[in-house]
Amino acid sequence: MERRHYRGQLAKRVLLSEAEQCFHLEFRVEEVEVFGFAPGQFISLVAEDERGKQQTRAYSIASAPRAGGFDLCVNRVEGGLFSNLLCDMKVGEAVEFHGPHGMFVLKEPLTDSVLVATGTGIAPFRGYVEWLFPEGGDRSEGREIWLVYGTRHRTELYYEEYFEKVAAERKNFHYRKTLSRENADWMGLRGHVQEHVARVVEEWSARTGQAVGREQPPFGLHAYICGLNEMVAETRELLKEMGWNRKQIVFERYD
Ligand SMILES: Cc1cc2nc3c(=O)[nH]c(=O)nc-3n(C[C@H](O)[C@H](O)[C@H](O)COP(=O)(O)OP(=O)(O)OC[C@H]3O[C@@H](n4cnc5c(N)ncnc54)[C@H](O)[C@@H]3O)c2cc1C
Repeated sequence: MERRHYRGQLAKRVLLSEAEQCFHLEFRVEEVEVFGFAPGQFISLVAEDERGKQQTRAYSIASAPRAGGFDLCVNRVEGGLFSNLLCDMKVGEAVEFHGPHGMFVLKEPLTDSVLVATGTGIAPFRGYVEWLFPEGGDRSEGREIWLVYGTRHRTELYYEEYFEKVAAERKNFHYRKTLSRENADWMGLRGHVQEHVARVVEEWSARTGQAVGREQPPFGLHAYICGLNEMVAETRELLKEMGWNRKQIVFERYD
């Protein structure tokens, strides 16, 4: 069956980083009232390269479903075709895409969860959090949700203000940001996300009163991991060493 292709028109473009490196892009889907997707899915952009050959690239949707549109969070890759095309778009311009695609979505029934991301791996989790904690509503069913987000510098903590606000307003949403290369004046968490995931599991155990250990995986807790392969692989390995079974770990790799 032919895949339906859509056109997304750029409605808003916001620089997220200090240098012109990472952008939040809001699209309106032309010719449809509702573009349906589940939080965490991705779309595939379609464009021609300089030799006229059709290319596609995946981008996670960085918003919860809303009528007729979605957001992306895109980081420029040096010499990259699509990332630069997207980051250089002007409001009113359009791109072709198909989708939504992917299975990186919240499990049903919802469980206590730890969301782990680096860089633009935050994109699907902005979608999860917007969906779980909408303005004036709550779909979290009282589950404990941790977001462990790692970058090198503070200037790369995308959507920091948004996640801080949700954490301040919702007692079951916990935001842990960790920096691996920030100056000495950074008073927050340091190091890689992997180190902090282990602490979240201990915190979950203390909150729920459920013992965890090598012989006793934290059943009832799921991990969702998104970003570049090296971090995803290391975090999965760590959780497996802690006794987690495969079904408790869901992941999306960008490379
Ligand atoms: C399911 C999925 C979801 C994704 N979601 C996002 C997202 O939300 N935001 C986002 O910015 N990216 C996302 N990506 C990555 C995205 O699809 C592209 O790979 C990335 O934007 C580079 O594409 P490009 O056309 O600019 O570079 P290309 O022209 O494909 O590559 C140029 C050069 O960069 C290297 N390269 C390719 N990808 C990367 C990378 N990710 N990091 C570093 N070097 C790279 C290549 O090896 C090559 O040497 C996602 C990937 C997948 C599989």
